[in-house]
Amino acid sequence: MDAETTESFQSLDPATGEIVGEHPVHGKEAVDAAIERARGAAAWWADLGWKERRIRLLNIKGALTRSLNRVATLIHRETGKPIEDAQLEVVLAITHLDWAARKAEKVLGPRRVPSGLLSVNQKAILEYQPLGVVGVIGPWNYPLFTPVGSIGYALAAGNAVVCKPSEYTPGVATLFAEMVASVVPEQPILQVVTGFGETGAALAGGAVDKIAFTGSTPTARKVMAACAERLTPIVAECGGKDAFIVDADADVEAAAEAALWGAMSNAGQTCTGVERVYVVDSVYETFVDRLAEQARVLRPGEDRGASYGPITMPGQLDIIKRHIDDAVAQGGRAIVGGPASVKEPYVEPVILLDVPEDSSAVCEETFGPTITVHRVQSLEEAVTRANASRYALAGAIFSGSRSAAMNAARRLRGGMTSINAVIAFAAVPSLPFGGVGDSGFGRIHGADGLREFARAKSITRQRFSAMNLTSFKRTDKDMARALQLVNLLHGRRYK
Ligand code: NDP
Repeated sequence: MDAETTESFQSLDPATGEIVGEHPVHGKEAVDAAIERARGAAAWWADLGWKERRIRLLNIKGALTRSLNRVATLIHRETGKPIEDAQLEVVLAITHLDWAARKAEKVLGPRRVPSGLLSVNQKAILEYQPLGVVGVIGPWNYPLFTPVGSIGYALAAGNAVVCKPSEYTPGVATLFAEMVASVVPEQPILQVVTGFGETGAALAGGAVDKIAFTGSTPTARKVMAACAERLTPIVAECGGKDAFIVDADADVEAAAEAALWGAMSNAGQTCTGVERVYVVDSVYETFVDRLAEQARVLRPGEDRGASYGPITMPGQLDIIKRHIDDAVAQGGRAIVGGPASVKEPYVEPVILLDVPEDSSAVCEETFGPTITVHRVQSLEEAVTRANASRYALAGAIFSGSRSAAMNAARRLRGGMTSINAVIAFAAVPSLPFGGVGDSGFGRIHGADGLREFARAKSITRQRFSAMNLTSFKRTDKDMARALQLVNLLHGRRYK
C-alpha cells in the first residue's frame, strides 16, 4: 500500500463469497498524486513518438496474450462469469490493443489537407495531438475489455492513463497495470487507483484532460457534473435496453439461438445485451417455441458446465426481481422461469411474453438473464417500438432480405446494429462503439475512438504571397479580384 493510503477493501468471488484480493482505498490526495505522476509520464510517452509507442503497445499485447489464462482466471473469480467467457473477454481486449497500436499513426499522424483555392498559397497540415492525462472509470461486467477499449486507444494516441476500476473488480485492472509496467518500466503510463465511488469522483474532479466513463446513466450524470467544474471533456458509455428484431423471412432457428446468447450470456450483465425482442407475427410462435426450448436447458452456476455465472453485484438482484414482478403484475406471462427464478446469487433464465411497453421490464435496464418478447405486425412496427426507448446503445436485426435489414439497421436509433448476428460489432476493432440518448455519447474503438483521446491541431505554412487580403495594405484591386473569384467559385445555381 502506498504512503498516501491507509484504508483497504476486499474484492469477493460473487459465487462463493471468498476473498479474491485486498486493495487500497485511494482518497483524493492519492488520486491527485497519481494524476501528477501521470502528467510526467504523459510528456515522456508523447515524446517517444509513434514507432516507439507502437512497439511497446504491441509488447503489452504480447504480454497479455501470454498471460491470457491468468487474467481470465482473475476475471472469472471477480465477476463469477464462466472461464471460457473470461477467456473470450481477454481475446477481445487483445484484438483492440493490437488495432489501436497499429492504426494510431495512420489515423492521428500529420497529414496534408487541401487548402482551397482562396488559400492556395497556404500549405495546410492537420495532426491529432494527445490530450495529456486521461482518467478511465470502468464497470465490473467486462472488467478488462471495457476499460481497455478506452485505455488502449488513449495510450495509442499518446496519453497517460489513470484508471479507477469498479470496487467489485479492482484486481483485473491492477493486474493489467502491472503488465503494462513490466513492459514500460520507465514511466507510469497506466496507474490504477482503487476504492469506491468517492475515488471515482476524485478522479473525475481532478486535473485530468478527459474522463472516459463506462457505467450506469445516473453515475454518468454525477461524473459529468464533477467534470463541469474544470470543463473536463467526457466520453460516456452508459447502459442500454437493446432491441432484437426478427423479420418474417428470418432464419428463425439462428435468430432464437442468437437472441438467447445476447440475453443470457454473462447472466445478462452486458451493456449491449438483448433485453427486448420484437418478432413479426408470422414467425412469432415458432420463434418463441425455439427460444423457450433452448432457454430451458441453460443453467447458472460456478462449475465448468454452467451456462453463466452469478449476478456480480448483489444489489442488482433486487432490480431484476422488481422487473419480473412488475411484468407479471401487469399481465405479462412467464413461459420460462418467473419471479421464483431469482435465487441469490443466481438468476435462472426468464422469458416473458405480453409485457406492456410501459412496464419497468421494458423501459428500464434490467441487467439480468431475462428477456421480453413482443409480437409486431411488421418490420416497420418493430423499428418504431425498438426506438421508443430513452436508451439507444445497440441492436440486432434478423432478416432474409439484405436491403430490408440494411434499411432497418440504419433507422434503428443507437450507435451499433448487427444484422443476422448479435453484438458482432464489439469484436470489430475498426468500428466505433457508443450510444445515443441515455446510453451516452462519444465513441470508443476504431478511428473515432482514437480521435476521442486526441485534439486536432491545424497548422498552415505560407508558401508564397498571393492576394494580400488580411493586411491594412490590401488594395481595392486585391479585394475586387477576390470577390470575382468567390463569385466564380460559389455564385452559380445548382440543379
Ligand atoms: P456504476 O455506474 O455503478 O459504476 C461505474 C463506475 O463508476 C465504477 O467504477 C464506480 O465505482 C464509479 N463511480 C461510482 N460513483 C461515482 C462517482 N460519483 N463519481 C465517479 N465515479 C463513480 O456502473 P456499474 O459498475 O454498475 O456498471 C454497470 C453499468 O455499466 C450498466 O448500466 C451497463 O449498461 C454499463 N456499461 C456500459 C457499457 C458501454 O460500453 N456502454 C459497457 C459496460 C457496462 P464503484 O464500483 O467503486 O462504485
